[in-house]
Amino acid sequence: MGKRYLCGLDVEEIGELIKAGGFNHAQAVTVAGMFYKKGVPGLNETTRIPKSLKKYLYDVAQTGIYPPVKSEESADGTKKYLFISPEGKKFETVYIPEGKRKTVCVSTQSGCRMGCPFCVTGGYGFHGNLTARDIVNQVLGIPCHNEVTHVVFMGMGEPLDNPDNVLKAVRIFSAEWGMAISPRNITVSTVGITPAFIRFLRESECNLALSLYSPFSEERAGVVPAEKIYPVREIISIMAACQLSRKRRLSLAYIMIQGVNDTGNHLNELISLTRNTRIRVNLLPYHAVRDDDKRSSSEGRLQFFKHNLVMAGISASVRKSRGEDISAACGLLASGMR
Ligand code: SF4
Repeated sequence: MGKRYLCGLDVEEIGELIKAGGFNHAQAVTVAGMFYKKGVPGLNETTRIPKSLKKYLYDVAQTGIYPPVKSEESADGTKKYLFISPEGKKFETVYIPEGKRKTVCVSTQSGCRMGCPFCVTGGYGFHGNLTARDIVNQVLGIPCHNEVTHVVFMGMGEPLDNPDNVLKAVRIFSAEWGMAISPRNITVSTVGITPAFIRFLRESECNLALSLYSPFSEERAGVVPAEKIYPVREIISIMAACQLSRKRRLSLAYIMIQGVNDTGNHLNELISLTRNTRIRVNLLPYHAVRDDDKRSSSEGRLQFFKHNLVMAGISASVRKSRGEDISAACGLLASGMR
């Protein structure tokens, strides 16, 4: 049998792996902690792991970490990495430094099968789910992995279309035995797949961000085909009814397109959907893609929406755009991969 890859294993699996060599669960916790928090040097240099266990690991396992094949840096410091998995799947990862906050935006699939017509990733087609190893490697495999404070699942793919691998990766990112990133600093972004959405609410503590595009069902179905099977109103009522711990955040991401979804009617409907809930609304500028005549709403219009939402008692913010010059912004990943 070949050597197992440590990257992507949870503490129980590491425990199983070393149990055969006579080692115990507490030692599995140490191995997982050193590996996920400090990477390979942590594993090699620590004195907390006995030499006999290091030798055993060397015989039965390898790290499974692989580096990106290409990187680009934006004028604002955002970095985009292209990975090719050992199985040949291509996907991109974005590193966003903002003061003390260092965010990695990870992909969960190579391409996407949700078919949203405006999205470059969707246009790339679907080339398979990423494994938990591929997802965790997007943090461990980049140069600044020791500095990462936040992880957002907003890269290529629909995370809730690959729930087993995404939940496992979230566990490795957030567990004390893993990278120990607070679940409050981990956000999974989705167009909404109801059964998996409910599963995430139950099985993880991370934040969830639902991409809305339009508060009107028919209009939304024109840009998010998933709406026809999983109506967003149903998901918003599940979010509204959810008993949240105080710090967990459920939000709507609302990308604003001039003259399309930034009218007074849209604003009123957005208010009626979210009033008296703990759902936050994040307003984002639109990024025009190739051969696209749509334009982002102006900064003033974004601020006008925010003001009116806040006046209606709804928590709202305007998000700024990062990495647009290297196609690392929302909806633009995979633009250079064909
Ligand atoms: S917007 Fe998200 S769900 Fe839709 S095709 Fe693009 S990556 Fe997939």
